Amino acid sequence: MKKILLSVIILFVASSTAVAAYHSDFVVFSLIKFSDFEEIEKDIFVSPDTTSKQRVELLELVKNAKTRIRQKFGAFTASPIIISSHNINWRKKYTNNSYADAILLPFKNNKAYIFIGENGHNLDVVAHELVHAEVFSYVGYINQLLEIPIWFNEGIAMQVDFRERYNAPLKSQKELSQLKYGWQFFKGNSNELTAHYSIAKNEVNNWLNHTQKLSLNKFLKKLNNGKNFDDLYNETNN
Ligand SMILES: [Zn+2]
Repeated sequence: MKKILLSVIILFVASSTAVAAYHSDFVVFSLIKFSDFEEIEKDIFVSPDTTSKQRVELLELVKNAKTRIRQKFGAFTASPIIISSHNINWRKKYTNNSYADAILLPFKNNKAYIFIGENGHNLDVVAHELVHAEVFSYVGYINQLLEIPIWFNEGIAMQVDFRERYNAPLKSQKELSQLKYGWQFFKGNSNELTAHYSIAKNEVNNWLNHTQKLSLNKFLKKLNNGKNFDDLYNETNN
């Protein structure tokens, strides 16, 4: 549900997430404006086969997802570039994920690209991805890569993702330290993945209940100002 692409320049970094590296994504996403996709509203692109009804529904979906985030966190200030298609043939040039992907690229002013695929046109999925865009807009590429554990990033996104299967009682006893990196978190069969998301959701939900005085945005700003994640998280978790 989230992918950080490593650029050649920072390939030396021990990646916390998908070492999908060397992807052509940097190029294909950067060139979206010059592709066959149509910009139907500022920074919202659709594949040309998208019907009028689907276009209207997409705009409504994005609006509702932002509203859900504002209701939960008080604000939504990111301005991601949203790309949508209901057609695998258009989508697969951009992502293998038929639901949705937040693509976080370096050198893009902390602007995320969100691709919504043929199975991802629902409020839970879109709100989830937009939270990734929001976090990224505050902390930027390097902090996102080096400071933020995957369990936090997914856990915070799960706060606006109400899909039932992630609310089931926790079956896995995994520690957060075992879900810090992408290769740990995004590994396993669908039951294990569901458990990882559920653990992350539960942990961040508990944390948020303790940090009502500190908004998420303030937390992310502090993180961006050089505070260590663990210190800040623990300090606000009392
Ligand atoms: Zn995610």
